[in-house]
Amino acid sequence: MIEQNLLQEFKISLEKERSLLTAELTSIADPDPKMKGDWHARFPKFEIVETSSSSDREVEADEIEEYEMRLAEEQSLESRLLAVTKALERISNGTYGSCKTCGKAIAIDRLRANPAAEHDMAHSV
Ligand SMILES: [Zn+2]
Repeated sequence: MIEQNLLQEFKISLEKERSLLTAELTSIADPDPKMKGDWHARFPKFEIVETSSSSDREVEADEIEEYEMRLAEEQSLESRLLAVTKALERISNGTYGSCKTCGKAIAIDRLRANPAAEHDMAHSV
C-alpha cells in the first residue's frame, strides 16, 4: 500500500497532466462524441493570403503536411491521456501502484518518474 500523502501527491500530478494533455488535444483535435477518450485531429484550414505568392495548391500541401503532424501528435497525446486517466481510476478504486501483470508494488521512484506507470521493473514494456 502506498502512503496516503504520496498517493495524494501522485493524484495531483496526474490531474495536472490530464488537464495539460486535454488542453493540448483540444487545440488540435475534437473529442469523439460517441467514444469516450477517442479524439480526432482537426484538418487545419489555412488562410489564403491574397498578397502571398503561394498558390492554392501550395496552401493545400501545407495543410496536408500540418494535418499529418497533428495526426501523429494527437495519437501520442491520446494514448498518454488514456494512461493518465487509467492511473487516476486506479487511485480511486484503490489498485494504484500495483503491477498490472504480477500485482507486486511498483517502486515509488518509478512512480515518481512516471505516475501513470502500470507495471513494475520486471514487467515494463
Ligand atoms: Zn510485475
